[in-house]
Amino acid sequence: MEAPLVDIRPATELSAREIAAAVRGGARSARSVLNDHLAQIEALEPELRAFLRRPAALARSRAQALDDARDRGETLGPLAGVPVALKDIFVTRGVETSCGSKILAGWAPPYDSAHAERLERAGAVLFGKLTMDEFAMGSSNENTPFTPPRNPWDLTRVPGGSSGGSAACVAARMAAVSLGTDTGGSIRQPAGFCGVVGLKPTYGRVSRYGMVAFASSLDQAGPFARDVRDAARVLQCLAGFDPRDASSLREPVPDLEVACERGAGGLRVGVPKAMLDLPGLDPGVREAFERSVAALERAGASRVDIELPHARYAVACYYVLSPAEASSNLARFDGVRYGLRVEKSTLRETYEATRDAGFGPEVKRRILLGTFVLRADSYERYYGRAMRVRTLIARDYEAAFKTCDVIATPTSPTPAFPLGRHAGDPLSMYLSDVFTIGANLAGLPAISIPGGFTQAEPGGSPPLPIGFQLIGPRLGEPTLLAAAAAHEAVTDWHTRRPALLERRGLAGGGAS
Ligand code: GLN
Repeated sequence: MEAPLVDIRPATELSAREIAAAVRGGARSARSVLNDHLAQIEALEPELRAFLRRPAALARSRAQALDDARDRGETLGPLAGVPVALKDIFVTRGVETSCGSKILAGWAPPYDSAHAERLERAGAVLFGKLTMDEFAMGSSNENTPFTPPRNPWDLTRVPGGSSGGSAACVAARMAAVSLGTDTGGSIRQPAGFCGVVGLKPTYGRVSRYGMVAFASSLDQAGPFARDVRDAARVLQCLAGFDPRDASSLREPVPDLEVACERGAGGLRVGVPKAMLDLPGLDPGVREAFERSVAALERAGASRVDIELPHARYAVACYYVLSPAEASSNLARFDGVRYGLRVEKSTLRETYEATRDAGFGPEVKRRILLGTFVLRADSYERYYGRAMRVRTLIARDYEAAFKTCDVIATPTSPTPAFPLGRHAGDPLSMYLSDVFTIGANLAGLPAISIPGGFTQAEPGGSPPLPIGFQLIGPRLGEPTLLAAAAAHEAVTDWHTRRPALLERRGLAGGGAS
């Protein structure tokens, strides 16, 4: 008999599926898996700054409890022993949840979000809260009162936003999977910038219960992972009806990992050609996009040209609607119910002083903008119009899906930009969402997958990841995942590793 092969790789090199199989089968303990990840964080976090909080003691006792359950012969779930980190927008019982803002500093919620609950039920070990743009407003993770995180591929660049920490930690192997939220692109854009997979589900597929609200009609939670199947597994655990969220869909959730096996044979990939003529679309991004579409064709898909005639209004529409919703959602942070309170002699002054001290400049800008567009005398001109444009945008997609099965675009017009690039010019930052916002306005599922790299610049920037976005029809996650997995099968972008890992002696195979 041959001796069984022992997998000596550190757990940080494994997928979530491999970790769960090893923990369920007893080849690894949940504790050892957690320790490998904590060591990785220890080594990289001083430079990356992806975590706001690491409740290690809590995570250790949770891992121990899982190991004990297995020793008693219990069957563990599909994420058994997988350490998962959450964007700090997800409420976690007894663990500070700041949503990246000073105004919530110190708030330890008395309950868990639906996401924390469902992940734990699946056997995950929640071990950290990740940095983000304040209240999820931003595309670089620089809108933060804390130290902004860095992109693992180039420490002088941003990881993207608003779920910057969620993308950076998965790219740097500090977690196999993480959760983020996407209101206008905040899962897909940072996933693209960091070379990982980021999946935004159909609106209503995943509960919003226990997610600090930004723009409730757009917000969706979803996974970051290093491959499509891991993302599918995490979504499977999160998805499904939740009576605590009024917009949660009563739809059955199909087997998403099985969907990944379908292949791309016969799928029609719609390309909105006019969008590719956008000024400001980086030529390297465009080239990589063409190669990704060609990869899908190699996998058996066919390319069709489609039109999304109202796509050019998406950014403007979003920056009326999302601040409007935010201005009303954020009214609850008043110094009375949560977190920070700056005491003054009257209640009104207390509100004002608390909100002035607690909110950062971008959040204040959005509250002002939102309050303005909702004023009685500007409501029709801005909010009412934007609502009608939203309907037109949604109809564009409906029409397009009559002739194609998935829509392909770049995730963002450029690769990750240097820290400070858009400082003082919020409008230029807003434009980085041109390709992602449409799916939120129309409530559609969309994924960003690794789609190539830029050329290294001599003496300058190392190769940077480029994201490839696929958008599916409503509840079309199975088709979306089939196309994404088929692309992954004929490319190897997702197997590349940030050089940082090698420099730190954290190469695969346990080299030191
Ligand atoms: N970048 C967009 C914004 O600043 C999207 C943010 C998000 O998806 N949370 O609003």
